[in-house]
Amino acid sequence: MLAVLHMSELGFEVLPIFFKSLFFGPENAKKAAEQIGFELIVHDISEKHLEMLKNPRYGFGKNMNPCIDCHGLMFREAAQLMEQYKIDFIISGEVLGQRPMSQRRDALNAVGKLSQIKDLLVRPLSQKLLTDTIPIREGWVKKEEMLDIQGRGRYRQIEMAKKYKITFYQNPGGGCLLTDAGYSRRLRDLMDLDMMEMKFIAFLKTGRHFRISENIKIIVGRNEKDNDALTNLAVDEIVLQAKDFPGPLGILNSIILPAEEDIKIAASLLLRYCNKAPETATVVYGKKFQLQIAVEVKKMSSEKVEEYLI
Ligand code: SF4
Repeated sequence: MLAVLHMSELGFEVLPIFFKSLFFGPENAKKAAEQIGFELIVHDISEKHLEMLKNPRYGFGKNMNPCIDCHGLMFREAAQLMEQYKIDFIISGEVLGQRPMSQRRDALNAVGKLSQIKDLLVRPLSQKLLTDTIPIREGWVKKEEMLDIQGRGRYRQIEMAKKYKITFYQNPGGGCLLTDAGYSRRLRDLMDLDMMEMKFIAFLKTGRHFRISENIKIIVGRNEKDNDALTNLAVDEIVLQAKDFPGPLGILNSIILPAEEDIKIAASLLLRYCNKAPETATVVYGKKFQLQIAVEVKKMSSEKVEEYLI
């Protein structure tokens, strides 16, 4: 927001763009753009982002956040849109030294290198401290009008926000699921077991996740909202539910056809979350909510459930 407003104030026409993926959506960016009176272009990079995530050249941050490669990919995508939108150069709100992984000087250079258009990048908030790129060398942008913000403190940014009367802004890194420890653990589990497919990733935000074998996991709704979300997500997954007692939905995610033994483990685990069910009860299951097959199982012990929890 600050970089956009600063450049706009200097007379540049700025076109904000948001890159959405499976792990971050545009809702907050839309609110932000609206607040500063700009229209936001939303560009979907889900597939490319997922491919990058499987093997990021610069690795991951504290969780499953491959920030350097992620920024590089976004700039590469922006570069491909330059002709379409008649863009002369690209700006970003990156600040030197602000983020431990992606905004150190060497990281900004790495991002530039990955972007394949590093000579067309300007970081208005820190550009005074950075190597000149074409827009500066050619005099399209005056270096003295760029800023020299650096470091993790946000004092100057907050002052700028006040000046621009910005009241809505997000926590740094907020909104990206890849920075969330629990989500990252579940994603890492998919990655380790070759299940990095969009259909499996779609479930990661919802419910409790348990791995019952190398090829099979079960997701159990924690509340009504989860159960509704799981109902909407299930396409041809096996769905399980206790037959005669209220309780959560269970959904199997698997890359093989689950054996009866696996289904029994899943059913027994699900039963643990049906408070009103006795120690032994019937669980029904089937695809497309045709829960026609019944299996009688014992409730799994809480200790055992913990062992399966991802
Ligand atoms: S926090 Fe998420 S969206 Fe931001 S650069 Fe890192 S991986 Fe990409």
